Amino acid sequence: MEAAAPSREEIERGEILRRYRALLRAVKPFMKKGDKKQLRLAFDMALDAHKDMRRKSGEPYIYHPLEVARIVVEEIGLGTTSVVCALLHDVVEDTEITLEQIEKEFGNVVARIIDGLTKISGLYNKSTNTSDQAENFRKMLLTLADDVRVILIKLADRLHNMRTLDSMPKDKQLKIASETSFLFAPLAHRLGLYAVKSELEDLSLKYTDPEIYKDIARRLQETKLKRDRFIRDFIVPIRKEMEALGLPFEIKGRPKSINSIYNKMRKQGVEFDEVYDLFAIRIILESPAETEKSDCWRAYSIVTDMYQPNPNRLRDWVSTPKANGYESLHTTVMGAGGRWVEVQIRTKRMDEIAEKGLAAHWKYKESGNDNAFDAWLTRIREVLENPEPNALEFIDNFKLQLYAKDVFAFTPKGDLIKLAAGATALDFAFEIHTDIGMKCIGAKVNHKIVPLSYPLQNGDQVEILTSSIQKPKSDWLKFVTTAKAKSKIKQAIKDYRREMADTGRDIFEKKMKQWKTQITEELMNKILSQFKLQSPVDLHYLIATERIDLAQLKAFVLEPNKAAESRASSRIDEKNFGNLVRSNSSAADDLLIIDDKISKIDYTLASCCNPIPGDEIFGFVTISEGIKIHRVNCPNAVHLLSKYSYRVVKSKWTQASEVSFLAGIRITGLDDIGIISGISQVISTDLKVNMRSISVLSNDGMFEGTIMVFVNDTKHLDTLMRKLLQVKGVLKVTRFDSHPD
Ligand code: MN
Repeated sequence: MEAAAPSREEIERGEILRRYRALLRAVKPFMKKGDKKQLRLAFDMALDAHKDMRRKSGEPYIYHPLEVARIVVEEIGLGTTSVVCALLHDVVEDTEITLEQIEKEFGNVVARIIDGLTKISGLYNKSTNTSDQAENFRKMLLTLADDVRVILIKLADRLHNMRTLDSMPKDKQLKIASETSFLFAPLAHRLGLYAVKSELEDLSLKYTDPEIYKDIARRLQETKLKRDRFIRDFIVPIRKEMEALGLPFEIKGRPKSINSIYNKMRKQGVEFDEVYDLFAIRIILESPAETEKSDCWRAYSIVTDMYQPNPNRLRDWVSTPKANGYESLHTTVMGAGGRWVEVQIRTKRMDEIAEKGLAAHWKYKESGNDNAFDAWLTRIREVLENPEPNALEFIDNFKLQLYAKDVFAFTPKGDLIKLAAGATALDFAFEIHTDIGMKCIGAKVNHKIVPLSYPLQNGDQVEILTSSIQKPKSDWLKFVTTAKAKSKIKQAIKDYRREMADTGRDIFEKKMKQWKTQITEELMNKILSQFKLQSPVDLHYLIATERIDLAQLKAFVLEPNKAAESRASSRIDEKNFGNLVRSNSSAADDLLIIDDKISKIDYTLASCCNPIPGDEIFGFVTISEGIKIHRVNCPNAVHLLSKYSYRVVKSKWTQASEVSFLAGIRITGLDDIGIISGISQVISTDLKVNMRSISVLSNDGMFEGTIMVFVNDTKHLDTLMRKLLQVKGVLKVTRFDSHPD
């Protein structure tokens, strides 16, 4: 008889059981009589309740509670009750099982914890608004911290969700990752769960800033061999002396978390190569409780005998532990090649507390001592309790010094953006996306229009207004704070300047040919001195941006010696010259938006009616695209003017400009062979108008063409239309409003 291949169900069942047994092995050291039965009961209930559910990755749902339970015991150090709760943490929320059933099977404590976990999920899924979110978070901490295991299991749940975030859709990834760095990582820190905190931060960064994350991870990988060698050499003499001490010990060299390296780079404004403490050496002593403190100091003395310590960098959390229970002795010493190395000295007990939080602490007290655990819960509650009535301030205080240098703001959709304190609306725009930063014309913070230089406050909701014609400006550099925004702006200005200078050089060379003059070094120097310029690039740039009068240049080039006396007459707007890109956006200066308060805000031209200078226009404040300029006779105008009059901004053109605007023309006529060439003759040759597109329909001897052209203003357009009407065969020429796209 042939054995059938195992089905997917059978394979999965085997895997589920394998994972369950691994969990049992991990809980074993904590198990008391009767615990095994409880665990089996919880596992069976969860398995059955989730049997038809799958995770986004396609795996059986039960993998998730099993994994959360494993984290709870192995990485946080909690016992059986918490493992039972972790196994059941999603059943009340996601399945038919009720809290009453849980209470009947597992008793009051488990039911209370599950209830807490269910309530937290509820808070999360419903809250969208910043202050709601903060207020809910505060409530969650204060009311649900009745049993701090609720929060610890929630952290394990979040950790597993972060580890498996890859299978979530992109927008969810960002939301969950932001929330993690905003709320859960500081929470883990506050509870002393350093390992969990670092991993949560690294995983958040992986999704909120994938480029930076990958870059640092790659560089860490690349420098690993070199670093390992350095650590090995550094340790050798210490190891020798420590062995002579006769105390069992372990020395590890551990790289710092990607997030903490990134924070260093940001805070100190340095590159990866310049971060000196990429790793810390950790000496872990196996020391009996009575001599812990003196043993740590003995190790300290060995280290500082070998290497010169930096007296400013000694931290003694052995004598006075941190509020969250952290105990360790830190010193920074000078290693080979003048490199500072951080050395952390602690005992095994201290190390476990540092990694897993205070929960681990109780393993070292008499086991089964409920009073001790209760005392711990009380202490955590005290830490979390805060009389501050304002939820946002509570969050700020809560985040301790760890995040004091950050500012948290939200997108209109509620996604969280973390920036360094002092960051402005423009930084925010660049943080969302480089393109959004480049096209940024203003922002609305908490629904009010603010300038780009507005410094963000915690909890601000920021909506970025953009315009397709916007270009980065050099004065932006005065009010962006992030390195990312700065370098992108500088690069864009440089690129633009180089591009314009190239164009300008072509124009200059052509003109010089026309003027029948050789470009000699001598002449160029005279020109530069005449116009007070530093280099030919400056000259080319000014020519291309039309900020130098060509007639004047011509006069000078033809008679340089004569003109030299009238130097004062050359007119270059020197003040504006520093502002290299402003001239390109001169369209903005040509539009006068009458309301003074927002006259600095840029605009976009509505594509439904393609307004051009000369048209009667009005501005309309849109929700997400800044101010849109419509023609008064735009088909949408009546609706907008009547329904949203409060969002209408009176606008008018100030003067004809050199900038071109898109307009549509419809031509009907007799389908004559010559008609198209006649039309293009007028457009391209006679009037030198740029055409963006032309499409032609022929029908029973009739011709209908739609043309999109770039014109300066209505006068320009009228001339063009008049000329087109004169083309043989053309019967009618009209302007049309709608974009053909
Ligand atoms: Mn879950």
